Amino acid sequence: MPNDHLNGPPTPEEFQRRMAEFMQQHLHSANPAGTSAQTDFAAAGDSTAAASPQEEFEFDYKPRDIKAYLDRFVIKQDEAKKVLSVALCDHYHQVRLAFAGKETPNYAKQNIILIGPTGVGKTYLIRSIAELIGVPFVKGDATKFSETGYVGGDVEDLVRELCRRADGDVARAQYGIIYIDEIDKIAAASNGSGRDVSGRGVQTNLLKLMEETEVPVRSPQDIAGQIQAMMDITQRGKKGPGTINTRHILFIVSGAFDGLEKLVRRRLREATIGFASKDAKATEETQALLEVQTKDFIDFGFEPEFIGRLPVRVVCQPLSVDDLFAILKTSEGSIIRQYEQSFAAYGIEVLFQDDGLRRIAELAGNEQTGARGLMTVAERIFRDIKFELPSTQVKRFVVTRELVDDPPSELKKLLAEHQQEERKIARQLVHEFAQRFTENHGLRIKFTDAAADLLISNALEQGVSIRDLCAQRFKDYQFGLKLIAQNTGREEFIIDVDAVTETDKVLSDWVVASYRDKQA
Ligand code: ADP
Repeated sequence: MPNDHLNGPPTPEEFQRRMAEFMQQHLHSANPAGTSAQTDFAAAGDSTAAASPQEEFEFDYKPRDIKAYLDRFVIKQDEAKKVLSVALCDHYHQVRLAFAGKETPNYAKQNIILIGPTGVGKTYLIRSIAELIGVPFVKGDATKFSETGYVGGDVEDLVRELCRRADGDVARAQYGIIYIDEIDKIAAASNGSGRDVSGRGVQTNLLKLMEETEVPVRSPQDIAGQIQAMMDITQRGKKGPGTINTRHILFIVSGAFDGLEKLVRRRLREATIGFASKDAKATEETQALLEVQTKDFIDFGFEPEFIGRLPVRVVCQPLSVDDLFAILKTSEGSIIRQYEQSFAAYGIEVLFQDDGLRRIAELAGNEQTGARGLMTVAERIFRDIKFELPSTQVKRFVVTRELVDDPPSELKKLLAEHQQEERKIARQLVHEFAQRFTENHGLRIKFTDAAADLLISNALEQGVSIRDLCAQRFKDYQFGLKLIAQNTGREEFIIDVDAVTETDKVLSDWVVASYRDKQA
């Protein structure tokens, strides 16, 4: 033992075995409940806490209610919304019955396969439904799991994560939704995208979860958690948090399933169209996918048992530029609203014009990432504007097609226009000073444009208002000008740049000159 470290660190399996031995030795006698250490710490856990009937579960939605809610956020995907609304209602009515102890015997859970390209709203649909009905939701990525769970994640981690999302409420976690993306990547067939053996292993592990199993709330890999459990039991006689039963957890798996549509067509003996437009091709593909059958999934590389546990198949369509435009303009979750809010935080109002929105949609379409492209494009457009505008006095702007196409120039224009507007107002302030001077002293003064601009710049540099600067700088002018008026009969005085720069000197020069004129 003392020289163990010379052989390098133990393998995870070895470490786990030793840990289990250690716990068994140290806990067996100390455990007040008298249960074996193995049962309390490691995978088996205490299932009674989890499996006992919980409080009531309320659910009285109808498919139309769910669809109507989804329509507010998710654009298009009408067929998917309908199928999902029905499947989720079925599932949660079943859960409600189970809670009331009236479960239908042999009920097959409505686990779902969602097919569709990236960024078309697959996750958004499910997340929105989970929010509506108030059940915990977790999303995972099938490519992150490994067969053994030692390297990478363990599929059971998803269940534990669901419990965390339910704030540790095991009962709520037991009717949550687990969403697993990129499921097509664990298909094992020769379609090129599969991961063969290990993919098959992950399918088997997922299958167990989808059927029914008890997942310990604390991961067997979570050493700190295990030690905490040991302490709780030995010191306080407290039972561990037990296990989560997966019987009523709804599983939704999704992926793009590239190549699946070809398998469907081959089975249907349909030819693929050669030279169709992009949109027509997309529609054709969706049509083919709507015909997908279990056999096609098996040909794609899934285990029959695995696919058998996923009876509901839903196809999401690619999004056209028109759809992307509609998302921006009408979805309650539109990123436009986010931008409006983040500018509003600086007191800036932004108005999105339709031609601007359409241009954003067009550019997003080129990204080929569905509605995700909208975020990428918008981020690019507004990056500098978001950085610059909050530190200026610009309080509103319009997002036009021109702005979307050339944000730096439009930003420059916006700032220049604003400066021009500011200058106009500032000049008005200077002329207003002159007017009041005339009213108060009966002597007409006028600023040249250059003199007014110089005063404006001076005010800006000194951080004082234009009115204050003028009042302070020309405070003695009425006396001097009155003398001049008396000496020469002059009624109007032009204040030029020199008079602004050397105010007092210029005035005294003028006065001296007026005496000279008087004598002449
Ligand atoms: P995926 O299909 O890859 O799961 P997501 O649902 O995660 O894509 O979409 C990413 C984001 O794009 C969503 O959060 C949402 O803001 C937006 N989005 C995608 N599809 C739609 C849609 N059909 N209607 C409205 N917004 C959508």
